[in-house]
Amino acid sequence: MNKIYVKDIKNYIGKEIEFSGFIDVVRDKKWVQFVILKDSTGKVQLTIEKSEEKNNEMVELISSISKDSVIKVKANVIENEAVKLGGLELIPSNIIVISHAEELPFDYNNLDGVNIDTRLDYRWLDIRNEKNMLIRQIESTLTEGMREFLYKENFTEIHTPKLIAAASESGSEVFEVKYFDRLAYLAQSPQFYKQMAIAGGLDKVFEVGPVFRAENSNTNRHATEFTGFDLEFAHIDSYEDVMDLEEDLLIAGLSKVKERFGEKIKEVFNTEVIIPTKPFPRIKLSELYKELHERYNFEIPTEDVGDMNAEAEKLTYKLAQEKYNSEFMFIVDYAATKRPFYHMRDEQGKLQGYDLIWRGTEITSGAQREHRYENLLNNAKEKGLGEDVKFYLQFFKYGCPAHGGFGIGLDRLTMLLLGLSSLKEAQFIFRGPNRLEP
Ligand code: ATP
Repeated sequence: MNKIYVKDIKNYIGKEIEFSGFIDVVRDKKWVQFVILKDSTGKVQLTIEKSEEKNNEMVELISSISKDSVIKVKANVIENEAVKLGGLELIPSNIIVISHAEELPFDYNNLDGVNIDTRLDYRWLDIRNEKNMLIRQIESTLTEGMREFLYKENFTEIHTPKLIAAASESGSEVFEVKYFDRLAYLAQSPQFYKQMAIAGGLDKVFEVGPVFRAENSNTNRHATEFTGFDLEFAHIDSYEDVMDLEEDLLIAGLSKVKERFGEKIKEVFNTEVIIPTKPFPRIKLSELYKELHERYNFEIPTEDVGDMNAEAEKLTYKLAQEKYNSEFMFIVDYAATKRPFYHMRDEQGKLQGYDLIWRGTEITSGAQREHRYENLLNNAKEKGLGEDVKFYLQFFKYGCPAHGGFGIGLDRLTMLLLGLSSLKEAQFIFRGPNRLEP
């Protein structure tokens, strides 16, 4: 069977079709039953005249059926201007019940006052909500736009292992997994393997995949598992090349979203998709501290000097808007002590990496990577990393081009794009310190 979707029913006017979908609403009137059916593309009206004897069985069935049951109908598609849903209706000759729905634990069409954790407990009902379904479709479109861009730029999509033998990459905590008679860990990023691909001569690679962080923090922007949009490419001259590419990538993704969903996003999420112009403003961390102090009387706490914190990110957005009329801001010149050992430093020890802030939250860390074996070894030693990174260091022993890349948190991107309050809203299925189910 070729499922006909609501959005395509208009192509079948005057014909008999089979259609299956959820029951959204039943309006049981004196002379007629209106049944609103829906699928992921929209809603359509089914009209059953009670006066017609041949409809008796269907009328009885509809009288007793619960909302959100799934039915399959054989029906004629009739043009009818009076029908609000697309000016057409389905006149059925047969209805069968595919699945009966029990009474729902909450009304997903009106989520005001429904606790987010109750919603997540029944996430499959929660995403029947139109807005939540849209979030999924918009994130998919964002990924599509970014993927398309990378394919056009001759990137190769790779898939790297998430079960790994060694734990050390950066400060982030990793999850341990029992792996037969030993321990394994869940990958906290595809970093090492993206670089292995570069050492393997692949030149341009990316991966969209799960990333695990054993961070016991309950912020609105941290999950213990999220989707990383990671890429790495070779033969660069500077981390500036990496920032340039990221600008193009984000413009491509956002343009695709605006083209397909711009109006809908305005209507449903009350927010505008703004396509940034190049170059995004770039600022040195020390200069940023100065600006934030002068403008907003902000002082970076001692423990965060050389780095950012949530408050600084918020104010950076303010600055980006006020001074540069931009939603984005690149920050460079982080302290090497605050960054992973594989980020390149120049002769003066200056870090060749950056973060990108969008709408007040970090969305990316990027850098030129250290590709010289000896330097990498020294950086690793400085950070007290030994055995755990030995396998990784080997990648750089047999020739490796200069390269760089970055990792974007896709879930965060979606959250910020649509102005959602947290990753619990933005992720398809949220994972946090207190949530491993459903
Ligand atoms: P943060 O400082 O915000 O915790 P990070 O510096 O640990 O982030 P990276 O290791 O650079 O982040 O990861 C790359 C990107 O992945 C980040 O810019 C962010 O968009 C996303 N990210 C990082 N940690 C999380 C998390 N726990 N949940 C969701 N997204 C995350």
